Amino acid sequence: MSLLSINFKYPLVIPHYDDVYFMKQALQEAEAAYKKGEVPVGAIVVVDNRIIARAHNLTETLTDVTAHAEIQAITAASNFLGGKYLRDCTIYVTLEPCQMCAGALFWSQISNIVFGARDQQRGCIALKTKLHPKTKIKGGVLEKEAAAILKRFFIEKRNLN
Ligand code: ZN
Repeated sequence: MSLLSINFKYPLVIPHYDDVYFMKQALQEAEAAYKKGEVPVGAIVVVDNRIIARAHNLTETLTDVTAHAEIQAITAASNFLGGKYLRDCTIYVTLEPCQMCAGALFWSQISNIVFGARDQQRGCIALKTKLHPKTKIKGGVLEKEAAAILKRFFIEKRNLN
């Protein structure tokens, strides 16, 4: 088939890969956590505009306080890459990482952390957790959406008790 015979009836849709696009993917993971009754936090790992890991919080499902979205995402990304370092990778996470996750991200030497909602009580910025010198961090991407799903979860939980 020659290039000329490509059917242009449907325009080629080239997704616009930016922080908002990828945060939406992380929010889909948060939604999946929500449906399982987990605190709705989602994370994805991206390298060269390619999503190599998708994960969400599983602390209830696995009865494991370490099963945060970021930890699951780091493990999945490392498995995919076949290496323990996540250099050149970006993690998109719907909530500011906690100290444990910031510590794990430190060890991964990840290039970028992009988060949605801030966590004034337990977040790594709020608590001044040390990140790897090679890691850049940025917050507030789709902050409202990321905060809204958490708020919805905690309001519903309160109403059940
Ligand atoms: Zn965490």
